[in-house]
Amino acid sequence: VIPEPSRSPLSSQSFIGVSLSGGRQERSVICELVEYEYPRRLVLYTLLSAQDQVELGSPDEFFIDFLKRKSPQMIVFDSPLSLPSCFQCHCLTAVSSCSKPEVRWLLAQQWEKHKKPRRYPTPYTQRALDFFLENYLAEKFEYGHALGSNWAPITVRVQTWLRFLGGYPLFESPVKIVAYYLGRSFGLNRLQALNLFSSTQGLELRQVFLEKMQSRMDLFFYERDLLVVQKEPHAFQALLAAYMGLLSLRNQVAKLPNFLAHEKCLLPKACEQDYVTRLEIVHPQGEGND
Ligand SMILES: [Zn+2]
Repeated sequence: VIPEPSRSPLSSQSFIGVSLSGGRQERSVICELVEYEYPRRLVLYTLLSAQDQVELGSPDEFFIDFLKRKSPQMIVFDSPLSLPSCFQCHCLTAVSSCSKPEVRWLLAQQWEKHKKPRRYPTPYTQRALDFFLENYLAEKFEYGHALGSNWAPITVRVQTWLRFLGGYPLFESPVKIVAYYLGRSFGLNRLQALNLFSSTQGLELRQVFLEKMQSRMDLFFYERDLLVVQKEPHAFQALLAAYMGLLSLRNQVAKLPNFLAHEKCLLPKACEQDYVTRLEIVHPQGEGND
């Protein structure tokens, strides 16, 4: 007999999105979405920017202290949460013989049929997940490697945070890809959805996106926060990461293929159809054994 799911005694649930910045300027943002049950309502409850930090000190400590005072349903990073499989692996002297399934899959990608051979994969900088996000979704997204030149400082920063956040339910979500899929589901056309982060049209398109999100999701923003989320890409990204946490709790996220089952990556449900089709085209017999 399956017991009935117990109803949470809490009348609200909170979801936190974290968007960490690299580079010289500290632009990292944390966003907390709270969903109230009676009446059902979603509120952008906290928007915390490293730039708001009044006292001089470590922005990481400022954020981690904030997180430790919270008990969210989920914390979702918009950056890689896991390290490449062969970064610290017994196989390091001969990566081509690594036995981990996700590495076998990644190495096999060089030999994808009907295309020119690709650059040899580097499973010590690159995750199978990184490759999958770039090549198996609706568009060719430029994601990069978890330990590649763009992500490496942020990936390592997240690894340091993990030491202080033991016990929290932690996830990652590639929000630029998420923005595309959500944008399409909100009625944006392909180019609008692809340009949400462009320097020329991004601001205007994010405004359209947020208006649609507000009306569809019954999402409430305070006026000041709404302006920040439109203007600051990291605030927008932190909002989307938090929102993916909410979708995950509602079972509205994609199931990752088996070779990525170890990754805690949240993608919109609509991704599923795209990659199922593409994986079948590339590997008609299932696993890509040539
Ligand atoms: Zn290995």
